[in-house]
Amino acid sequence: MEPVTKVGRGMYSIGIDLGGTKIATALCNESGEIIWRTEVSTQATAGPQAVMARMVASAREAQQQAGQDKIVGIGIGAPGPLNPKTGIVAAPPNLPGWDEIYLVNDFERVMGLPTHLENDANAAALAEWFLGAGCKVDNMFYITVSTGIGSGAVVDGKVRHGTTGAFAELGHMVIDMNGPRCNCGNHGCLEAFASGTAISRMAREQLGVDWGADQLAAAAERGNSKAQSILEQAYHALGIGIMNVVNLFDPSIIVVGGGVSRIGDPLFRALNRAVHENRFRPASNIPVVPARLGTDAGVIGAALLPFKEERDSRNLAFTV
Ligand SMILES: [Zn+2]
Repeated sequence: MEPVTKVGRGMYSIGIDLGGTKIATALCNESGEIIWRTEVSTQATAGPQAVMARMVASAREAQQQAGQDKIVGIGIGAPGPLNPKTGIVAAPPNLPGWDEIYLVNDFERVMGLPTHLENDANAAALAEWFLGAGCKVDNMFYITVSTGIGSGAVVDGKVRHGTTGAFAELGHMVIDMNGPRCNCGNHGCLEAFASGTAISRMAREQLGVDWGADQLAAAAERGNSKAQSILEQAYHALGIGIMNVVNLFDPSIIVVGGGVSRIGDPLFRALNRAVHENRFRPASNIPVVPARLGTDAGVIGAALLPFKEERDSRNLAFTV
């Protein structure tokens, strides 16, 4: 735990990044700087009430660090499906028992602070846009490639939600109508070709090894041609996904984060080539760049939500 050294006269928010394995909680200032943080295991199998109690305990600790009257609100980033407008989390696959949980209502009742909910990929997108690789451009598209593939778009300083909060679920864009079955039940989703899980599956099937993307990348670097070909299949699939993003959303930058993005140069070379070779928009120079905030993106993005709401309600631009 980091000591509190920077709590001053300003206001703070509490960001909570709820994941299937851990809950990260941070006290942040208006600039998205982390002042204090803590992390506990989710213990998801204990069910929603127990998980929520752990989230509340962490939030209370953060509140104590800043002082009762110094918190503008709480932001929670959680796995989807969820609806940021109603504050309801609806059965995420990695949180057993979370079936229509009124997370925002429950949190506001217990903590007595305005609480905001956002899809975890959208929260990370917001953080990357505000203080990471997105550089506050008008149209940023964010993709996280890890166990699954998530994405979000920040347009004119606003996270897009769509009608029910399921805007731009790139992981479930079908890129091959005859492709393998995805966890969602459809066939040929991007996630079934290029997620960390899909890459590990191909390593098992084609190389007979239990490797993740980073181990495959190391083997590819050493000249292992099978490892190279598996990664190239994944890069190719991601390239198609990104080409579709360009054609659908016309972004000015695409930021890619998540564990698989740690492969670095070979991946980003392939993705930039795919954008450049898009026949519909030949030689387009929309950059595909690595995320900058790493695993902190989710918790920082969550902590930015209360400030964002506060600014929106006063009609102030979030970019100021
Ligand atoms: Zn799918």
